[in-house]
Amino acid sequence: MKTVTRFAPSPTGYIHIGNVRSAIYPYLIAKQNHGTFILRIEDTDQARYVEGATELIKDTLQWLGLDWDEGPDKSGEHGPYFQSQRRDIYHGWAQRLIAAGRAYADPTPSDTVASYRAEANRNKQAFLYRNYRPADTPDWQPGIPLRFKAIPKAYDYHDEVFGDLHLGPETQDDIILIKADGLPTYNFAHIVDDAMMGVTHILRGQEYLPSMGNYLALYEALGLTPPKFVHLPHILAPTGNKKLGKRDGAKSADDYRRDGILPEAMLNFLACLGWNDGSEQELYSKQELIDKFDVSRIQRAGARYDEQKLIWLNGQWIRRLYAEDPESLFARSAAFWPKQATNDTLKRQVFSIIYDRLKTFNDLKTMTSYFFADPTVDLDMITSNKALKKLSETELCNLLHQSVAKLQTIDDWSATTLQDTLNELLAESGQKPMVLFGLIRLGVSFAAFSPALHDTLAVLGKNTTLARLNAVIAAFGRD
Ligand code: GLU
Repeated sequence: MKTVTRFAPSPTGYIHIGNVRSAIYPYLIAKQNHGTFILRIEDTDQARYVEGATELIKDTLQWLGLDWDEGPDKSGEHGPYFQSQRRDIYHGWAQRLIAAGRAYADPTPSDTVASYRAEANRNKQAFLYRNYRPADTPDWQPGIPLRFKAIPKAYDYHDEVFGDLHLGPETQDDIILIKADGLPTYNFAHIVDDAMMGVTHILRGQEYLPSMGNYLALYEALGLTPPKFVHLPHILAPTGNKKLGKRDGAKSADDYRRDGILPEAMLNFLACLGWNDGSEQELYSKQELIDKFDVSRIQRAGARYDEQKLIWLNGQWIRRLYAEDPESLFARSAAFWPKQATNDTLKRQVFSIIYDRLKTFNDLKTMTSYFFADPTVDLDMITSNKALKKLSETELCNLLHQSVAKLQTIDDWSATTLQDTLNELLAESGQKPMVLFGLIRLGVSFAAFSPALHDTLAVLGKNTTLARLNAVIAAFGRD
């Protein structure tokens, strides 16, 4: 049987990180088995619909390299792939349930339903609508919700992550199948769609586990064979024992993308949230994930969200991709340079000495501007520096003069020569590296961070280096 999996997001405008993981695993399973990965847009909840949300979902999947085989913009034998366009299909299946006596039109006003619920709460009973099922029901017609007629019983089933599970009759109720607006609920639509689309594995968050009684009852009433269930454990907030929410510092996939996180790192990070292949490996490419992913190794306990891990992985991925193809990684950094960085040759040189210190491409903005424009001389930054504040202004200026004189003698202004010359200067000055190199570093950059000093000076060039050091001496009034 051909493996078919799907990602079935609701276009609500915000792509929670956990939701992205629910796209990655089905993608991996489909690819591993030469199967089909479907993108289905679950847009039946008009109240939650956000304009542009489908584009955001598609962009995010494409950015991560999770190309769908069937879905929006792709033809396929199972379309349409927007639930809002499948109304007739759901109505057809609804009619079958009505004909079999397993669905009924329910005109009960919603405030009456609310009062039933309140009564159950007052009596400290679980609210089951079937206890209030109306005796007489009209024919089903537009504007009236359609409910399932539950025949409660026990179910035993297997979940690929949570194991063998037992559900009692209390898990089944007269759930709404079609709402008053004529659109189906998720509860009904996904079952019809998954069956019609030949889905073999459902992957979704564990929050759907409590509804499994209703789903199994619906499969049975519709005469459908349930697929494999793979419920994914929650992703936990960085602290405490609660589910990761918007307020826990986790950004949306799109935010991370804008912040210069590489899709390779994001994919790697999310795939490994609650899954590992049993080895110590931490860096996985998409192909490695396809080869190694195994549902049976998804951890049942929730995985803790650790953004620092993502950032660390991103740094690792920058190094790996640079080693593979520096030019294409450079091209991908284009949007992240400071405004003044217009010279591509210079950008390339800077990239080659700084890439291995970047955590994200966003660092380019904050770490490289002095390569493209003279920094503002800020003597306080020198005199308050931890290593330099022990020196008097005279000592600082003597050291700067000595450095300028030494660097002036270099004919071949290359990183290797600079490294040797700087070491000679260090010995001659009798200073600690922190002091001498720290002073030169600040003098040319006025930045808290620079790549290796000899690399930095090599890229800045002789004239710029000497001019900037002389400008510091002048600012001290000691030229
Ligand atoms: N539309 C549902 C959601 O976004 C999909 C759940 C599922 O994958 O079945 O949570």
